[in-house]
Amino acid sequence: MSKVFTAFAISPGLALGTLHLCRPGPQVRTAPLDSDPKRRVQAQLTKECDALAQLAQRPDLSESQRALLEADRLLLEDPELHDAIFEQIDGGMSADEACQRVFADYARQFEQLDDPHLAHRGRDIFCLGERLASRLSGMGHGLPEQLDEDTLLVVPDLTAAEFIRLPKTHLCGVVLERGNVDDHLAILLRSAGIPTLVMPDALTRLSTQSGLLDADKGQLTLATNGEDLALFRDTLAQWQQRREKHLACLADPAATAEGEPVWLGANIGSVEEAEKVGQHHLDGIGLLRSEFLYMAEGDWPNEARQYSLYRAIAQQLNGTPLVIRTFDFGADKALPGLNLIEANPALGQRAIRLGLAQPERLKTQLAAIVRLAMEYPVKLLLPMISLPEELDGVLTLLDEVKVELAMNPTLPVGIMVETPAAVLMLDAMAARLDFASVGTNDLAQYCYAADRNNASVSPHYPQLSPALIRLLHQLSRQAKALDLPLSLCGELASEPRALPLLLAMGLRSFSITPVRTAEIKYQLRQYRQNDGKALLAKALACTHKRDLLTLLNDCVSR
Ligand code: PEP
Ligand code: MG
Repeated sequence: MSKVFTAFAISPGLALGTLHLCRPGPQVRTAPLDSDPKRRVQAQLTKECDALAQLAQRPDLSESQRALLEADRLLLEDPELHDAIFEQIDGGMSADEACQRVFADYARQFEQLDDPHLAHRGRDIFCLGERLASRLSGMGHGLPEQLDEDTLLVVPDLTAAEFIRLPKTHLCGVVLERGNVDDHLAILLRSAGIPTLVMPDALTRLSTQSGLLDADKGQLTLATNGEDLALFRDTLAQWQQRREKHLACLADPAATAEGEPVWLGANIGSVEEAEKVGQHHLDGIGLLRSEFLYMAEGDWPNEARQYSLYRAIAQQLNGTPLVIRTFDFGADKALPGLNLIEANPALGQRAIRLGLAQPERLKTQLAAIVRLAMEYPVKLLLPMISLPEELDGVLTLLDEVKVELAMNPTLPVGIMVETPAAVLMLDAMAARLDFASVGTNDLAQYCYAADRNNASVSPHYPQLSPALIRLLHQLSRQAKALDLPLSLCGELASEPRALPLLLAMGLRSFSITPVRTAEIKYQLRQYRQNDGKALLAKALACTHKRDLLTLLNDCVSR
């Protein structure tokens, strides 16, 4: 029986290979007692700088790769950094501890900067410090000089320079113990097309075996026998064939087989992901998860900082719309500075409830969005609105902000429909809304009363079920009757099997994980209204999940 591990994907795709585990080298100190720690630090820094300068000469590097190496080198040469390390050594720290401390402090300072590119650099600096410290303590990094064919590399972390230096001809996938969608390493991995997962305790849980890394599903499956391997090979071959077919329509406008246009936007959570709109030929950003921009910072960002990041995103969109969702902090997206300790966080202070409990803070975000809407086509999206009173509360604050700023831009307002109560009360809110967007991830969670992050109840949280389809059908009919534009930005929009049902319900606007664009555009082109209506009628008659899935699987395979 194959063994399946779930993990967080930072670079998409599928890869089949043998795991190569890189643990840091032997934990033996090269210098048993630091006789001259400052000299050792100085020598190591010089060595690292020389190595970076030499690496930057490589003719195969792009300008941006060279710039990353140069940025690392300049940092390592910075006399202020040297002084800070020496000061820690004078205070009694060993060479490696001093480096670790000073780099971590630098990393924190960078993460708090207004410029998003500099802020992202924090993680690289942290990793650089860790690496330097492990070399100073004689632990080495354990990275291979050469790789066997089809290697899935498992490492705690990598600096940008280490990644560039890695022999990549045989590297088909990576598993990191630390990493983030928007750090530089993730960007390098994505642009090199290397599927990558982040699994915090990978080196203790995994062993040298063959495995299928599926970054689209966020899974690593290890083979236990030849049969598993044969199955993996088949899966990979089918995936490659499908991928080519899908990629052929990436640049086409999103439309059904009968030529009906569909608005297809991107779900993003970082400044750097905004470039995906152009890369994947999308129509704008349908969901900016604004909380992801600030989760590393620990506290609610001020208005200026918010405005600068939202603007950095809008600038990349060539005039296409940007839907900014107000902070969805709380539940599994805790912000340390908020000190939320609750027995039931998914049912507690989250999203708009937090904003309404701290109106002055919510107003800083509304102000940043109003200011941006003076220059760019922005829409405001409110998460977790369940009661009309909550909408009243936010709209009052929005009016106050507009008066205080003396600005009244065009700013369409919408709510996320994420609770059954919002479905039931849509008629009481529609007149004050310009649109609504269905958040099926949470709508399913609150419909089934099953925690979307609790693996032990995952059988009770099906992404597709008769209950959810009926609820969405009711919602779409209601929105149509109210003349309220409805779009869908939950993961269900990226699920090809659900697409014909959603289209048959009348939805023509979706926001998806950008990496799914080619597949979704391909599926849209297969859709015909009459077939869709017939399929929806059958789906609505299903009572059990398995009947619904059989129906939809048959439809997609046809
Ligand atoms: C949703 O709930 O479907 C959604 C899009 O929001 P999030 O996944 O960020 O909660
Ligand atoms: Mg949600």
